[in-house]
Amino acid sequence: MTRTHTGAKRRSSVNTSKRALQHPVATPPNTPSRPARGAQRASTPVREANEQAMRLTGRPYVSHSQLSTFRGCPRKFAFVYVEKAQPEFQPVSLVFGGAIHAAMEMYFRRLLEGLPTGEGDLMHAFMAAWQLQCEKLPGVAVKFNKNESMSDVVELAQRMLGAFRGSAASQPHGEIVGIEEELTTTLAEDLPDVLARVDLVTRTPGSLHVVDWKTSRSRWTPDKAVENAEQLRLYARTVQRMARGLSLPVSLHFVVVTKAKSPVVQVLDVPHASASSAHGADQEATVLTENVRQVWSAIKAGHDYAAPSPMMCSTCPFKGQCPAFVGSVTTPI
Ligand code: SF4
Repeated sequence: MTRTHTGAKRRSSVNTSKRALQHPVATPPNTPSRPARGAQRASTPVREANEQAMRLTGRPYVSHSQLSTFRGCPRKFAFVYVEKAQPEFQPVSLVFGGAIHAAMEMYFRRLLEGLPTGEGDLMHAFMAAWQLQCEKLPGVAVKFNKNESMSDVVELAQRMLGAFRGSAASQPHGEIVGIEEELTTTLAEDLPDVLARVDLVTRTPGSLHVVDWKTSRSRWTPDKAVENAEQLRLYARTVQRMARGLSLPVSLHFVVVTKAKSPVVQVLDVPHASASSAHGADQEATVLTENVRQVWSAIKAGHDYAAPSPMMCSTCPFKGQCPAFVGSVTTPI
């Protein structure tokens, strides 16, 4: 039988404090408390699978981002997480997505505190996050798209954040329980914990809602939401005990903001079996566990072959070091 539990939070949400901590939702009776990191280390033996992950990647867990990078290209996974190679550039989409994320995070933190957020505040947070990401990799320039400049990027951010601020997604029903929470779940003893960085958790009388924010060139279809459902289904595992403590089902949603002249904000619900029955939850847990086990087995076995694809390689910041391209007379992609 699959054992699943909500693990310790690695990074506290900023000032989810006032309302959330005063409210029982933040600490339902059978939700694990948040032990001080040192205390947890002293009392909880580190699992072998977490130690393996630590040895391989320097982190005692796997994240959905790691799993998805490995599935896309094992060589890229090795560059990023194992060898920690210096990228040749920072893809604009990565820096941009991170900065939009940071602005939305700030918005919800202020909402939680009852503070209004103007467009200027959002853009200030966007620019600060952009700057921070550039400073993290000094000397590694941001690579813009063809014919794109920083002012284009700033204008796009203004339009997108304005659309978000005016959308229903900016006024979630119910109470905010967590913002940018880092939670872990143990799917099975032979697997490292899975780390989830949950963008937003809210509670309504009928559900505990887990939300992930995305930026996208085009609108998502319901099928695309389902294709990407694994991420949210894994995240659902990390809040499962909290949901059980509250006797609430978990609902999963993507909030997608499009990078367009007139950005659209979509809220897409992601179906998951855990919401309907305990049997469905067990089945879903089995599928998730097997999916993670497949990837983890390949990582452990040291698979690091290049898997070139036009989609991935055209924006890959490791192309100049990649065996699929280094030394090629004609560039395959
Ligand atoms: S260039 Fe392509 S094949 Fe090489 S690491 Fe990057 S994504 Fe993988």
